[in-house]
Amino acid sequence: MLRVSCLLVLVACASPKETAAPQPSPAPPAPRTPMALTYLGVAGWQLDVGELTVLVDPYFSRPADFERPIVPDEAAIAARAPAKANLIAIGHSHVDHLLDAPAIAKRTGAQLLGSLSTTRIGRASGVPDDQLITIQGGEDFAFDEAGGYSVRVIPSLHSAIGDKHDALDGEVPPDVALPTNFAGYPMGGAYAYLVRAGGHEVFFLSTANFIEREVEGLRPDVAVIATGLRQHIHDYTCRLMRALGNPPLVYANHFDDWRVPAPTTPPPVSDDLNAFIAEVGRCSPGTRVVIPSHFQKMQVP
Ligand SMILES: [Zn+2]
Repeated sequence: MLRVSCLLVLVACASPKETAAPQPSPAPPAPRTPMALTYLGVAGWQLDVGELTVLVDPYFSRPADFERPIVPDEAAIAARAPAKANLIAIGHSHVDHLLDAPAIAKRTGAQLLGSLSTTRIGRASGVPDDQLITIQGGEDFAFDEAGGYSVRVIPSLHSAIGDKHDALDGEVPPDVALPTNFAGYPMGGAYAYLVRAGGHEVFFLSTANFIEREVEGLRPDVAVIATGLRQHIHDYTCRLMRALGNPPLVYANHFDDWRVPAPTTPPPVSDDLNAFIAEVGRCSPGTRVVIPSHFQKMQVP
């Protein structure tokens, strides 16, 4: 023990001489372009930075009957979708994430980025091939329009729906005929996204599960995090906060009831969301949690 202690003292004494040379001061961070985030309901988001608009899982139709073939509600889309968009990223192909995206891609000219299942629904909806980007997970795409931005595709997992027994997984078939019902939108794999634009890094998690090793080391300044059904996942909130380096700002995601119309006034914060706020406060005390109101544009510092 004594020998080890002496060694530690020697190392500790030697280090100041080695670091005595003056260090150059770090370069100041580049100024950020103002950014706005808008919660569209369910797992839908709109990100605006300068001339860039990115949508994630935009879903406005919110039909009541999922057994019959489901058609996008063009009036609801026209009322809420932006006039233009650069990219629509889809977390997975379930109907409450994908239904409206092809119609929005056709209206806005946006690229539709998602799994092969997403591409098949897009193609069957009439989205031109040059607006379809098929991912496999792990891509890190650079885009040069709207001042330049990039999107990292993060392999992920779906929340434990069906009490861990039924995730409606599988792939959309190549010859899918539309419209189709709820069961016609299998998951097609699950993905998270890191969008880098205007000096910001925004992490989007569409459903409450993740692969820790795929998230570890990401350092977003904003994290949009699904909360519904997280109680089925071990230590969900703290593991995620830790892996993401305790991001300064978190927005709750996918917490409203996707089977009913969007609320017209902000509902009271649920017990489950209050529990999420408390979890973040306990394991990442420097993080601010925002429970977004539907369709309210929020400026992000
Ligand atoms: Zn889903």
